[in-house]
Amino acid sequence: MSAAPQDVQPQAFAAIDAAVAQAVDAQAHYGAAPHTTRSALLRALAAALENDAAALVALADAETSLGTARLNGELARTAFQLRGFADRLDAGAAARIVDDAAVPGAPPAGRPHLTRVFAPLGPVAMFSASNFPFAFSVLGGDTASALAAGCTVIVKPHSGHPELSRRVHTLAAAVLREQGLPLGVVAFVDQATREAATHLVRHAEVSAVAFTGSYQGGVALWHAANARPRPIPFYGELGSVNPLLVLPAALANGCDAPAATLAASIALDCGQFCTSPGLILIRDDTDGERFATVLVRALGAHQPHAMLTPAMRRGFEDATARIASQPGVRARLAPPSTNDDAPAPRLYEVDALTFIDNAALHEEMFGPAALLVKVRDHAQTLAVLAAVAGSLTVTLWGADAETPDNRALAAAAQRIAGRVLFGSVPTGVAVCDAQQHGGPWPASTQPQSTSVGYAAMERFLRPVALQDAPQWAIAANTGGIVS
Ligand code: NAP
Repeated sequence: MSAAPQDVQPQAFAAIDAAVAQAVDAQAHYGAAPHTTRSALLRALAAALENDAAALVALADAETSLGTARLNGELARTAFQLRGFADRLDAGAAARIVDDAAVPGAPPAGRPHLTRVFAPLGPVAMFSASNFPFAFSVLGGDTASALAAGCTVIVKPHSGHPELSRRVHTLAAAVLREQGLPLGVVAFVDQATREAATHLVRHAEVSAVAFTGSYQGGVALWHAANARPRPIPFYGELGSVNPLLVLPAALANGCDAPAATLAASIALDCGQFCTSPGLILIRDDTDGERFATVLVRALGAHQPHAMLTPAMRRGFEDATARIASQPGVRARLAPPSTNDDAPAPRLYEVDALTFIDNAALHEEMFGPAALLVKVRDHAQTLAVLAAVAGSLTVTLWGADAETPDNRALAAAAQRIAGRVLFGSVPTGVAVCDAQQHGGPWPASTQPQSTSVGYAAMERFLRPVALQDAPQWAIAANTGGIVS
């Protein structure tokens, strides 16, 4: 007998409460475990993914249509970053302290002995994204960085790949059992409704939220996190338009190669990347127009695969229709889609002043589409960047020479983006120590943090200053290591 509708919500909330209780129970043990326990866990999780790679990739492909080549690469990246966090733990990342010896005398020069240590925040609610079924999902970067920091995780899987999420969680549970760790180190909430997902964010025992997804979903949950009686950090990585500037110097050797590179990036994986270049700034002159013409041809030759979910497919139609209907927008490439699931790429064009004045044109079109903005001069280019306000990336093509204009462009790009590229394309985010994946609102809710790269661990560590502490109290925070 199925549950009556009025019973569904309490049941869904009870499932969330049970998962949080599991994570809270596990936190005391896991948070105090030596760093070698955490690094061994991360390495075993990486191995478990790799050992089951063929079956996992087949399942992921069936649920997402992303293709086995991309998914094999993504699984390898996910295992790589789990091991990368383990390596950093073994190199002392968890034992890091800042120590100021006592100085005799009166303040401000005189001071007590202060030791800054870094404690795990506590259980983290982790929202998976649709477009990275491995790398931003059950054992993706948010989970890896939280586990490295000594935090347990409550995974909210994405409804776009439920079977894969279950399967990966089952693997994680087996690893936890093998390692003698409580299952609540990676707790899991299956089939959560949006209301239940919001209940998870509101739960009093949840200490932080990691979210990767849409602006709308992220903002709704960010509000919920801030409206709690005890607000908690909400690390939301949201959508982004990723401006790419084609400066005259970038076209010195013709338009064909740069246009082909850009078209491939816009169409890559059906444009379903948060780093997809969605805003292309070109000069309003003959060379700019020549580049636009070649780009239309190059992009039109791409035939993307199906989108991740029917909802995303509808979202793409809605977003492109909204852009197309704005005053002053011209469709440069908008063929009818021949396949219901897979949209044909689109390219629109607008002048800089119209773009600047209309906030509706600053929104992401999640899918294989971009908006060309024709700028008259350097000053207009700066004004367009300022209007964008926040982005994961800005790419500058043709800004290699050290000139006053290029300096100003680089500074303007840095003001609005977490990553500034001087060439290449923004799709593809390397996992390393220097990486920054975030950016001012609306790209992310916490621009001072990153969700990709090893600095992501900092999000889940809370500094505590110990004053005149005995050695044992310091060592308790550093796995017994005191430098
Ligand atoms: P999404 O629809 O926002 O979903 C993300 C997660 O949040 C899912 O678990 C979803 O639940 C949940 N959710 C969404 N709205 C909610 C609400 N109102 N209340 C409670 N839970 C809610 O995003 P998506 O479809 O995965 O991804 C597409 C977007 O993500 C794009 O805009 C893309 O640019 C962005 N993205 C950003 C990054 C980045 O690093 N900045 C990376 C990848 C993607 P359901 O499972 O029920 O849908």
